[in-house]
Amino acid sequence: MTDEVRVGRRTIQLSRTDKVLFPDDGVTKGDLISYYETVAPRMVPYLKGRPLSLERFPDGIDGQQVFQQTVPRYFPDWIETASVKRLGGAGNVKHAVVSSAAALVYLANQACITPHTWLSRADRPRKPDQLIFDLDPSGDDFPAARRAALDVRELLTDLGLPSLLKTTGGKGLHVHVLLDRTADFDQVREFASGVAQVLVARDPKRYTIEQRIAKREGRLYLDIMRNAYGQTAVPPYAVRARAGAPVATPLDWSELDDRRMRGDRFTIRSVVRRFERDGDPWRGSSRRRSLTRPWRRLNDLLT
Ligand code: ATP
Ligand code: MN
Ligand code: MN
Repeated sequence: MTDEVRVGRRTIQLSRTDKVLFPDDGVTKGDLISYYETVAPRMVPYLKGRPLSLERFPDGIDGQQVFQQTVPRYFPDWIETASVKRLGGAGNVKHAVVSSAAALVYLANQACITPHTWLSRADRPRKPDQLIFDLDPSGDDFPAARRAALDVRELLTDLGLPSLLKTTGGKGLHVHVLLDRTADFDQVREFASGVAQVLVARDPKRYTIEQRIAKREGRLYLDIMRNAYGQTAVPPYAVRARAGAPVATPLDWSELDDRRMRGDRFTIRSVVRRFERDGDPWRGSSRRRSLTRPWRRLNDLLT
């Protein structure tokens, strides 16, 4: 069965729309395409200009995963791309970039369940425009992620930085700080590391920055390693390749008070209703910060 859909100025040929991508939930590729078409007005602003890595499952999430950094040759010319220096190697990698609803729908038709985004934009790839604290509980422990998010937020507030919260669609949460692109990745990661060190020093039984899982001993891992050149994070409204088709979802901080909250609370089926009712909790939070002054305050806490 072939089908086509018109999105903006583009006509996209769809294929195998009745292919089941999430067997436990009966979610088809057609459902994925409709979902991304619906969320595009909210989601595309979070993707614009960013190199992408594509996590695709042509045969559904129980089939083989295709993880692509390089844009496939057969993608049409109208899909934007960005060439950026290969991490620690010679030459460039040409990534796909989504700057329109049509491109997002095209990717969905490629069975791209999750487009992963860089923390920088392709025009200045070494200067991230966001910092992310990736809060990874040991095991399935959402209360630990919740507590960590609140502690991160409180410390950032003391340092003069507002922060944004989202579920990952997985087990944990991400806390974002919007940056003005004056600092490079090493500087941003060093700042994030300092913040994490303060939290570990205050509560060493609860938090760790130990990368080796065996050494974490049940503590929540404050993962600051997303903040590096060539690394990615899942963007707002991306679907995850897990049972239930959960969606990474921007939250208002007050939503952590809800005892039913979880990293995979919102799904491809529930998130649209949610934002039609409540809007996007991140809307209006566009002011981008420098780390210069927060650094001075952080240094006082570290010494
Ligand atoms: P969870 O809340 O379950 O931890 P998560 O999205 O934060 O979900 P992580 O494993 O902590 O998952 O990874 C953080 C981000 O790093 C991901 O969103 C993804 O973009 C990127 N990432 C993680 N593992 C890989 C991998 N093997 N290959 C490519 N990117 C990865
Ligand atoms: Mn995580
Ligand atoms: Mn992680």
